[in-house]
Amino acid sequence: MRRKTFVGQIVNLRRIGNPPAGITRAAGRRIANPPQVGNLPHIFALLMLAGSASGQPNYDLLLQGGHLIDPKNGISAVRDIAIKDGTVAAVAAHLDPASALKVVDVSGLYVTPGLVDIHVHFYAGTGERGSYAGDSSLYPDGFTFRVGVTTVADAGCSGWRNFEDFKEKIIDRSKTRVLAFLNIVGNGMRGGKYENDLADMEAAPAAEMALRHKGLIVGFKTAHYAGPEWTPVEHAVEAGTLAKVPVMVDFGSDRPERPIDQLLTKKLRPGDIYTHCYSGLRHELDENGNVNAGMIEGRKRGVIFDVGHGSGSFAWRIAVPAMKQGFLPDSISTDLHVGSMNSSMKDMLNVMDKFLAMGMSVDEVIRRATWNPAREIQHEELGHLSVGAPADVAVLKLETGKFGFTDMYGARLQAGRKLTCELTVRAGKVVYDTNGLSRPDWDKLPKDYRQTGDPRWDGIMPQRRQTQRPPAK
Ligand SMILES: [Zn+2]
Repeated sequence: MRRKTFVGQIVNLRRIGNPPAGITRAAGRRIANPPQVGNLPHIFALLMLAGSASGQPNYDLLLQGGHLIDPKNGISAVRDIAIKDGTVAAVAAHLDPASALKVVDVSGLYVTPGLVDIHVHFYAGTGERGSYAGDSSLYPDGFTFRVGVTTVADAGCSGWRNFEDFKEKIIDRSKTRVLAFLNIVGNGMRGGKYENDLADMEAAPAAEMALRHKGLIVGFKTAHYAGPEWTPVEHAVEAGTLAKVPVMVDFGSDRPERPIDQLLTKKLRPGDIYTHCYSGLRHELDENGNVNAGMIEGRKRGVIFDVGHGSGSFAWRIAVPAMKQGFLPDSISTDLHVGSMNSSMKDMLNVMDKFLAMGMSVDEVIRRATWNPAREIQHEELGHLSVGAPADVAVLKLETGKFGFTDMYGARLQAGRKLTCELTVRAGKVVYDTNGLSRPDWDKLPKDYRQTGDPRWDGIMPQRRQTQRPPAK
């Protein structure tokens, strides 16, 4: 749903400064009154005063009594969190429920920053068969909010030749915040014929496109290359240097001419990302079962290691020994696409569960699904719940029981814990609510009840009842 009345606000925000595209886009979609980014505490103080004086509630939404995990701010404790105009307005041990238009009791649940999945494939809608710039990709909103994900980065489905088509077809139409790694291949991820075409891996036009969409294009991707040359990696790094963004590498076919240790110790820069780190397909473990010395050296140099589970990039026989040897991932991501969505990789929470199953704590799993990936893609306004941050929130339940988790070869690991998503908030609005935590019981409503929500907090059904709030001046 687009609200044309917000256009003026977007222009305003742009005039004020030069916020990252993520903030601008979020504001444009859902924040009726975007505050100046640099002056948040001040603005919020004014809002509070204005609210009290006029008898209006101070907050639009209050999530009450949950166990808040906010790794960036070192919080793992029971906290109330209040939201106003799409941003986090207050976090405290106790906030007055009377100060909020809507209060949701989330006691017994985890409240975390909206999950950030930096490896997905979402360039759907072109109709191209057998292509990640087509039928192998998914539409974002069906696969994100229901598992607490509010931000994704598409991992190279489009290149500089088709990025703007991707933006027009998907990015601009999604409620999920969709960012993108631009494929170093100009044609993007359209299959082997394109992805192995060394002539279509030019750094300059790729960098130019990234600079044109700064903040939206968060890096470059090289993937699936089968040849012996270093060209795809070198050109991606060149583009990354020009545009000052990281490179994410799917190292393609295993070739003796370009071994993984050279990639990680010589070719990549600090901040560049090695995805599929537990695939075992490129000697991530050496012949003795030890983590490849190049991985350890690469990490020391600042190379980032990302999970990128997918349908063929996560094996227990690699991940378990690597974890036991202390080689933990920097970020947890899905590599979600049509081929992986119903495979051993189900969704973001399933991949996170696998790290719980290997003994990682809930707090550390959340860190690797929120603040770490947000930093990796240079979006430090995301992945945490500081006052003034975009109010993207996941409310998760840790279930105990008997569960099984499978890998790319269909091997199972059994475990007793599993995360499920109760509720997701995107830009201050409830966009997913599994058990109706935010909804009233039908038999307590008037006999002829209709729409129960309010557009100030309800992102599920607000269109049936237009806002009563006067437009901001
Ligand atoms: Zn991928």
